[in-house]
Amino acid sequence: MDTAPRPTNFIRQIIERDLGENRHDGRVVTRFPPEPNGYLHIGHAKSICLNFGIAEDYRGECHLRFDDTNPHKENAEFVAAIQEDVKWLGYDWGDQVYFASDYFEQLYEFAVELIKKGKAFVCDLSAEEIREYRGTLTRPGIDSPYRNRSVEENLDLFRRMRAGEFEDGARVLRARIDMTSPNMNLRDPTLYRIRHGVVHHQTGEEWCIYPMYDYTHPISDALEGVTHSICTLEFEDHRPLYDWVLDNVSVPCHPQQIEFSRLNLEYTVVSKRKLTQLVEEGFVEGWDDPRMPTLSGLRRRGYTAASIRDFCDRIGVTKSDNVVEMGVLENCIREDLNANAPRRMAVLHPLKIVIENFPEGEVEEVEAMNHPQDPAWGSRSLPFTREIYIERDDFREEAPRKFKRLVSGGEVRLRYAYVIRCHEVLKSNQGEIIELRCTYDPGTLGADPEGRKVKGVIHWVSATHGAEAEIRLYDRLFNHPRPDLGGENQDFRELLNPDSLRTLTRCRVEPALATAKAGERFQFERVGYFSVDPARAAGGVPVFNRIVTLRDTWAKIEKQQAGA
Ligand code: ATP
Ligand code: MG
Repeated sequence: MDTAPRPTNFIRQIIERDLGENRHDGRVVTRFPPEPNGYLHIGHAKSICLNFGIAEDYRGECHLRFDDTNPHKENAEFVAAIQEDVKWLGYDWGDQVYFASDYFEQLYEFAVELIKKGKAFVCDLSAEEIREYRGTLTRPGIDSPYRNRSVEENLDLFRRMRAGEFEDGARVLRARIDMTSPNMNLRDPTLYRIRHGVVHHQTGEEWCIYPMYDYTHPISDALEGVTHSICTLEFEDHRPLYDWVLDNVSVPCHPQQIEFSRLNLEYTVVSKRKLTQLVEEGFVEGWDDPRMPTLSGLRRRGYTAASIRDFCDRIGVTKSDNVVEMGVLENCIREDLNANAPRRMAVLHPLKIVIENFPEGEVEEVEAMNHPQDPAWGSRSLPFTREIYIERDDFREEAPRKFKRLVSGGEVRLRYAYVIRCHEVLKSNQGEIIELRCTYDPGTLGADPEGRKVKGVIHWVSATHGAEAEIRLYDRLFNHPRPDLGGENQDFRELLNPDSLRTLTRCRVEPALATAKAGERFQFERVGYFSVDPARAAGGVPVFNRIVTLRDTWAKIEKQQAGA
């Protein structure tokens, strides 16, 4: 994997200090704890790179733990997808894969311990009443009338909750902490609730009471010997509860919770709830739609795992909230592919050219470099034929002097081949240009023509030997930089970019691309970076997904918007 040292950050500094002081017996154990209620997104990648990266660099371990305490939203498909994505990113949890549900029995026993210590009680208030009793930031809460139940009664009721004697919502188990605490999380938080009729993907119908996240998480961490429990900033206010739980049950150790700021990325959303909406309401084709900020979507789009790890290194880890420009992610993949993607030729909007002085039926093999900046990549041969296609945009009947491509009566060089001159423009009855008649100069293969300069170079594909392809031009999913902050009356779905996908059929690509394999990536010269989609179009035609344009076209648009 990467050999360059990863940039440091405040969490790594804490770990180095702890190692120096031999805290946690000199061990480093982290975990990545996704809830299997959706696919992983680029925000999760930040957390994965942080947790697994620390384990790699400090000879520790990083556990993969499914936080599966909400069975009605979770399923085995998500469990499998999450494992695939973490592996794809390049990380390995060895045999350290866990489920919070592995600990249900122990969690139950610890709850009994809390009850016996007078630190938890069964409460019969309804959810709404609990909310009312809880108070507000400016008004202290009020004790539940059930708060002083005897230990025996609590033990009996909790056992019967587990046995299924009560309906959903009839009772909960709550911690007994402090209803007047300025920290709302400490106002006798719920530890367990009743949930009948759900089949848990791991435990089936064994349980009808489920522990809450804030109770489950610290205990799971402690049971696994986690030393540094790294989470996002919204859990900062929950840390006193994290510590309270660990201080009041007999767990083997007390992990340290450290918070960092979550990743926000412009022009997309990284909330699982919103991504779920996009999938379920059909705004995209699925979790792996190449426009989605999910790891499976980015993979299908053609992003490399290395580019995403590089992105996570570049954005850094801090405690301040910020929003990263989409251009940062796009530049990571652009740089990776500029160095690592072989060059090919593809014509997206084909315009036919007949080279009148090139013999019919003849094929001349011309040599094309696979990577112009690096001869070690070698070359390939391309069939040059009487009929070829060029890009419609590369021809103008009349053009300003600055136009360096082909014009009526003018010359242009075909990349890796000859200089051609356009003599005649054929049009349909509707006036549409359908064909150009040209001649080529046989003395110009790798040489300048005699006595004149030809500046423009355009790409081309043989009309008789090239292959057909479908090309999908993906763009940003939203055309607003902060679709999640559109304001009260603005639904994020109204900010979707209507041009986020343009499908071009009957494109032409050089012959070898007909057999390119799913996942292969190329630079189509002068056009952009593309990857081969796993699916083929009708008739077995290959499909190429645009990963990213050659240059940042949005920077200009944004500058214009800012100036307007
Ligand atoms: P979402 O808000 O998308 O639903 P979540 O926190 O509910 O995210 P989890 O599956 O619980 O999703 O997340 C697993 C881990 O990934 C958690 O430790 C969480 O803090 C971290 N994580 C989630 N989103 C981000 C993000 N945008 N940036 C950094 N870390 C994140
Ligand atoms: Mg979560």
